[in-house]
Amino acid sequence: MTHSEIKSWLLQTDPGRLQTLYAQADRARQDALGNHIAITGNLEISNHCVRHCLYCGGNCENQRMQRFRLSEKEIWQGVQHALTLGCRALILESGEDYGVRRDWLASLIKRIKDETPLEVTLSLGERSVQDFTTWRQAGANRYLLRFETSDHRLYHLIHPSRPGRHINRLTLLGQLRDLGYEIGSGIMVGIPGQTYDTLARDIELFGELELDLIGVGPFRIQPDTVLCQKASCLDAGADQVPASHDMTRKVMALSRLVRPDADIPGDLFPAHEDIRFYHTVLQNGANSITPDLTPQTYRCQNPDGTRPDSDVVITAYYDQMAKIVVSLGRTLADTP
Ligand code: SF4
Repeated sequence: MTHSEIKSWLLQTDPGRLQTLYAQADRARQDALGNHIAITGNLEISNHCVRHCLYCGGNCENQRMQRFRLSEKEIWQGVQHALTLGCRALILESGEDYGVRRDWLASLIKRIKDETPLEVTLSLGERSVQDFTTWRQAGANRYLLRFETSDHRLYHLIHPSRPGRHINRLTLLGQLRDLGYEIGSGIMVGIPGQTYDTLARDIELFGELELDLIGVGPFRIQPDTVLCQKASCLDAGADQVPASHDMTRKVMALSRLVRPDADIPGDLFPAHEDIRFYHTVLQNGANSITPDLTPQTYRCQNPDGTRPDSDVVITAYYDQMAKIVVSLGRTLADTP
């Protein structure tokens, strides 16, 4: 797909034409991956972070957020929960937290790989090559690092570098690939300053990077962030991409067309949108779901109020997702 074709789909508003896009994406998903919907557990192992990202409630200046870091025992409970749900893989996610020690995590990854059939995806930010190497040797399969936007100026505005560390995430993704990881990345749809051209370029990059996992979701303003106060300063005016469900559907469908066999979760980021949204995107190219397995005690520490705070809600959510999967004539895959 060319840049102008992608951009033209992003600007398309005719419902009939868009249905052809969604049908193409659904067929591409079916041809490449079949009827199964994979289940990947998402376990937040720490919400400490040293970074100042303008859009993220986890930024290090947010004093209102109560921070946690899971113990090995708590992580192991999450592993058991993932196995109970029939997860194929587990994402271990955190902010950029250097309290998550290289060797400590390596022994945990090794234990998961030795004692369970789970694939392990890490999403821990911009760590050192030595960290990445050790974790890969311990058995980690995949690393998820969102490049957020292909617009370098916008990226550095919303995602300031740490002093003396100017890291290019695209370069880092290449290094992760060279180390033998499958690589995942993604963007937020409609972040202030995102234009149709940059979004089209983002989708082209998904193809060029040959991503194994693509995480996309609509931008949501979070309290206690700089963008909560100043989003309008970055707004791209008439060229600004809306942070809407409709635009996210288009981006997921186009992502499927540029990467037919990639894992594209319907609900990875941000979690817990309206359940009807997932019903739709699972027919527009998405092929997996990612229940949140973070322990209840910590889940409710999120101050933005968008995250369900009880296991009852999580279980109900998962049950609803399972019903949606069945209603679509699809099956929940329970093997790697
Ligand atoms: S987006 Fe990630 S790196 Fe940036 S502040 Fe949030 S948790 Fe930290």
